[in-house]
Amino acid sequence: NKQVLLKHYVSGFPKESDLNIVDSTINLKLPEGSNDTVLVKNLYLSCDPYMRTLMSDPKASINPRAYVPQSPLTGYGVSKVVESGHKDYKEGDIVWGITNWEEYSLIPAAQIHFKIEHTDVPLSYYTGILGMPGMTAYAGFFEVGATKKGENVFVSAASGAVGQLVGQFAKLHGCYVVGSAGSKEKVDLLKNKFGYDEAINYKEEQDLNATLKRHFPEGIDVYFENVGGKTLDAVLLNMRLQGRIPVCGMISQYNLTQPEGVTNLAHIVYKRVRLQGFIVADYYHLYGKFLEFVLPHIREGKVVYVEDIAEGLEKGPEALVGIFSGKNVGKQVLVVARE
Ligand code: NDP
Repeated sequence: NKQVLLKHYVSGFPKESDLNIVDSTINLKLPEGSNDTVLVKNLYLSCDPYMRTLMSDPKASINPRAYVPQSPLTGYGVSKVVESGHKDYKEGDIVWGITNWEEYSLIPAAQIHFKIEHTDVPLSYYTGILGMPGMTAYAGFFEVGATKKGENVFVSAASGAVGQLVGQFAKLHGCYVVGSAGSKEKVDLLKNKFGYDEAINYKEEQDLNATLKRHFPEGIDVYFENVGGKTLDAVLLNMRLQGRIPVCGMISQYNLTQPEGVTNLAHIVYKRVRLQGFIVADYYHLYGKFLEFVLPHIREGKVVYVEDIAEGLEKGPEALVGIFSGKNVGKQVLVVARE
């Protein structure tokens, strides 16, 4: 049973050498008489930015939880049930939820989020558009951001797993939407594939404040925050009265030992801006409603999804570490097995 382990707690940017690939010889069997354990074969694993926060020593992390050094990473994945001790699952079911970074896993049934019912779309989509990142885009944009039709929306990390969907949801909702991303290739995707009205390569920006003023002469109603740092600082100068900032993530800060200061926070006062962090897990009760919304759009080609596929568990360290320097173009997926 090949596994990807965390070697030790990480400080600063993660490196491939912080992870280890081993072959475990432990024979995985359902515990005798267990009624809540499921043996799964892992098919697709999700590389997610929050996993970096679990690699830090919890004493020095924004996340109170942490991976256990010398143990397999855990994360979102799509898996096939091999043997089930739980009444809700049977051999052959395809599920998504939290699993381990290994070929086969014994997991408590409570870690399974949902049984996959719709298999006419790629199963890997359940690590992205039909899984946690999709729900994040939906909850952040519609629920937390309370975005109204026609509003002006700005999105950072705009070509990623979450961002590419926020942009498309904004267009479906009749909004004007601008995105920022870190390369020319990604900027092209934003405009030509995801339908963003304008796109910014933040790595080449000399004066983001001025660029935002040009793109948003009336100000930004909703800023979908994925990165934090300098981008947030420039956005704060450009928010419109009663604007909202759903704070989804701050990936630019996850690897810093000394977080950057944000200097323009006081602008939220007179602009009456609502800045609200959220965690997708609080919104899974909306999953059924979300699928009803998004599945027809996928089937009709009205919402597209770009994935960056790494083949084989041994590519896991490279794929995971890569998202912190923007190597991924679209949702970073790791294929362990296709069936
Ligand atoms: P992505 O697929 O967008 O991958 C991460 C991207 O972040 C990279 O490709 C890179 O793109 C960008 N990035 C990396 N470092 C920096 C940096 N220093 N400054 C600016 N951009 C950077 O990831 P996701 O879509 O999965 O996640 C996006 C955000 O949403 C993250 O902050 C994540 O933590 C958060 N999130 C929060 C959830 C919640 O429940 N609150 C749930 C899921 C995600 P580029 O080339 O454009 O720089």
